[in-house]
Amino acid sequence: RSIWSEMPMGPPDPILGLTDAFNKDSDKRKVSLGVGAYRGDDGKPYILETVRKAEQLVISKNMNHEYAGIAGVPNFVKLSLEFAYGTDSQALKDKRVAGVQTLSGTGACRVVGELLGKFQGAKAGGGRPPIYVPNPTWGNHIPIFNNAGMEVRKYRYYDPKTVGLDFEGLIADVEQAPKGSAFLLHACAHNPTGVDPTLDQWRQISQAMKAQGHVVFFDCAYQGFASGDAEHDAAALRMFVADGHNVALGQSFAKNFGLYGERIGALSVVCADLEEAARVESQLKLVIRPMYSNPPVHGARLVSEILSDAALRAEWAGECRGMAERITAMRVALRESLEKRGSARDWSHITDQIGMFCYTGLTTEEVLKIRADRHVYFTGDGRISMAGLTSTNVDYVGESIFQVAG
Ligand code: PLP
Repeated sequence: RSIWSEMPMGPPDPILGLTDAFNKDSDKRKVSLGVGAYRGDDGKPYILETVRKAEQLVISKNMNHEYAGIAGVPNFVKLSLEFAYGTDSQALKDKRVAGVQTLSGTGACRVVGELLGKFQGAKAGGGRPPIYVPNPTWGNHIPIFNNAGMEVRKYRYYDPKTVGLDFEGLIADVEQAPKGSAFLLHACAHNPTGVDPTLDQWRQISQAMKAQGHVVFFDCAYQGFASGDAEHDAAALRMFVADGHNVALGQSFAKNFGLYGERIGALSVVCADLEEAARVESQLKLVIRPMYSNPPVHGARLVSEILSDAALRAEWAGECRGMAERITAMRVALRESLEKRGSARDWSHITDQIGMFCYTGLTTEEVLKIRADRHVYFTGDGRISMAGLTSTNVDYVGESIFQVAG
């Protein structure tokens, strides 16, 4: 018997499993609200016009297909950091930010996890160092950091009673964690809840983290996609850097540029000075080299074309705003659909939340009933991917939730 013959069947990925079930459903009314990928109002994948233009520019340049360096395409990394930290960022001017291209946001998380696992662990005298993630968080965070050799702990974030932020719980957990712990923060548009701290709350979180000497890792998967304004969505990150946090940052260009399959992202670390940044970057490369050698170049070229050209960049900002506005419009329409039917529940959180997802507050039982009776598919935690709603199906979804949840 071979080693393969003994292997047990693994459980299906909860979200991809949902897509399978949806595909098998032959009911005409079916609606898919699982996967977090943007759709236009026609329900189809949306390709940004600026990405189309960038593709033409890249093709016209007849570039070669040589390997990128371990850290990726240098111009992309530079533009990506300016996009996040701001073109006027003092840290960037001081050249004290180490940065590498990554395999989208997932890759950034994994690389920072490996780096922290190695060096935080060594600092603590061995063992698996902890990283604190919000409860709940993006489902992949926990396995990513576990696989990178870290112990994942949760800090309080979402309060089911208010369907909002458990701010006091969050601060208490920050204060109670051992000094110098790693903390993951969603930079904007928290996945899965859509609940973000206010700027004033961010300020207090920054101070509490500072007092404890925690290491902050911002996971930024939705810059521009959350509010429609990329500068606004970077506010928390920039505030922390201005407060003197030497943060790590993961960036994804999957959602805001609609480049999901290109796997384009970046990881950066704000350091004390240029010399420290050089050391950190050398360690990032040592993590990357044995994992995948170097990243693919095409997505980096596309993003670079857009970010480096003022006219294209302005056009992109408009397209990104358009995506965010469509989602906001769907939030309003879903809430109205529930309220006009006289729902007894308070649905204000639908429009208070931000980004790709809406955490409805529905129970798993209700979710399963909506799926069985009405063929509307979303995850058991009650998370709806807003991008799956269109002006054609939103009222049907509202009616479905109303029928089951009242
Ligand atoms: N981080 C968060 C919070 C996310 O929501 C996602 C995507 O859903 C990612 C990271 C990573 O996505 P990708 O690897 O496609 O950039």
